[in-house]
This record gives sequence, structure tokens and C-alpha cells, in this order.
Amino acid sequence: MTLALPNYGRAMHPRLLLRLSLFASLVCAACQSVAATYEIERMKDNVYRFTAGNYRSAFMVTDAGIVATDPINAEAAAWLKDELARRFNVPLRYVVYSHNHVDHSYGGRALDGEGVHFVAHRLAREDLVQTRADTRIPDITFDDEMTLHLGNARVGLRYHGVNNGRGSISMHFQPANVMYVVDWIVLGRMTYKNLKGYDIQGMIDSTEAILATDFDLFIGGHADAGDKTDVARYLAYLNALYDSVRDGMLAGKPLAQLKADIRLPAFSDLRMYDEWLGLNIEGVHDTLVDQSYFDMRPDIQPRD
Ligand SMILES: [Zn+2]
Repeated sequence: MTLALPNYGRAMHPRLLLRLSLFASLVCAACQSVAATYEIERMKDNVYRFTAGNYRSAFMVTDAGIVATDPINAEAAAWLKDELARRFNVPLRYVVYSHNHVDHSYGGRALDGEGVHFVAHRLAREDLVQTRADTRIPDITFDDEMTLHLGNARVGLRYHGVNNGRGSISMHFQPANVMYVVDWIVLGRMTYKNLKGYDIQGMIDSTEAILATDFDLFIGGHADAGDKTDVARYLAYLNALYDSVRDGMLAGKPLAQLKADIRLPAFSDLRMYDEWLGLNIEGVHDTLVDQSYFDMRPDIQPRD
């Protein structure tokens, strides 16, 4: 889950803070979180972006029907369903879940109907079933890759291994040549907080695989759309973060020292840089302990 709100609270006068929270409680009947803001934008050719608060999904419209992606939640999906019916005179044919996480995959039932197929990676479906997730369970799954055809258009689905959650895939809309990835590539903003549910090395490997693919436009599940240069810059950030945390840990630095020492000024323009750099460092540190057992390495001498 991602909230990219600026940190207003830090230097705020207490009275203003009180007034703001009172305001928030007064409007809360309408607030339903930030997801009350819905928007559809045509991004390139027949590919559109659906925004619900800080969440985004993509869809493609063809004469043979519509391929939608993450429903996001029940309210967002109901809004999307109405808009698709109002704007386009073709049926919804497929709904593809990007991965298992419920802040993107919930709301599936609101898009369900006759002739609509739900698609996900085998591991994403398995997780939704085993965790008794309250959404439409996919009826089509795949392991490595699969292509959905609609008329002359198609969506290439690919699994790149672990990166975030279970069974997270990329979606390549053709012939528009638009790539859609959720959570493990984020443009214009720092990656989310302490990387809970992420695998940093897998994020790097998967992003390299995306960069090896030909695409003109990238749409993410959060933050900005962009092009290949933007994705390459994101990969450079991941590598700089990973390398600096790994090297600091190899030098025996504890987490507090890593947070005090590591600065990545080349990326300070990314939104939430000041707020989340320490959390990103913590996320990589914890992953290196959990996945690579850095706490059990006899060749690393702790120093303070
Ligand atoms: Zn997310």
C-alpha cells in the first residue's frame, strides 16, 4: 500500500493541526480514504490509466472488448465498471491482477459478469485462495508467460521471479507498446517505506528484465508514468541503495550508523526522499539479514 502524501505534520502549529483533524473528521463520511478521487486518462493509443487516490491501474480498449487490470477496491471497481460502460460500447473481456496484494486485487467481484475472465499468475491465485481473500478468484493462470489476444491487439503477461508479494507480473500492451508494472517499479517517488513484502535483489533483477524489453511508455501502480529513461533511473536508485547498504553492512556498520551515513543526493528530487530514505535503508538492511543471513556471517566484524 502506498500513501505519497507530504509530511505536513512535522512543523505544524498545534492549533492548525487540531483544526485540520477536526476538518478531517467532519468530512470523513465522504473521505473513504483518498481513493474518493477517480480519474481516467488516455495515455497512448487505446491504453488508458485509471487512478483511484494513490493507486493506478491500466486498461486497453479494442473492438473485441476491454482488458482491465487491478480493480483496486470494491468502490473503485464499481466506479470503473460504470465508466467503461458509459464511455465504450464494447464488453469487458478480461481482468488481470498484477499480484496477490489485496490493496490492488480487491474489488474483483464488482467487475465480474458473463464472459469476463479473471487472470493472474499461479502464485497470486494460490495466495488469494489460501488466505481466503475477499475478491473474485482468477479462473485463468499461468507460470512464465501468457498472451491475451483481443482482435489485433494483445497483452503480454510475464513473470520475472520474486520482487513484491506473490506472483507479481508485468503487462505489455501491444501494439500501443505500453508497459504496466505495480509496486516494484515506481517513477518519480521513493520506493515504499521499509520495503515490507519486497525483495530488493528481485526488484533489481525484474527491473533489468523490463529494461531489456522494448516499450514506449511505462505506467506504474503508483506515482508517475514515464519512459525507458525514467525506468533506468529508478534501477540506478535501487542499485545505489542496495550497494551502499550492503557495503556498509560488510564494513560492520549497525543499522543506525547506516542511516546516519548513507546519503544518495543524486536522487534527492524523488518525492518522499527525506521522509523515506532511512526506511528504504532499513528495508534493504532487514532483507540482507532475513534473506542472506548477514547476521550469521563470520567474515563480518561488527563495529560501532
Ligand atoms: Zn501498491
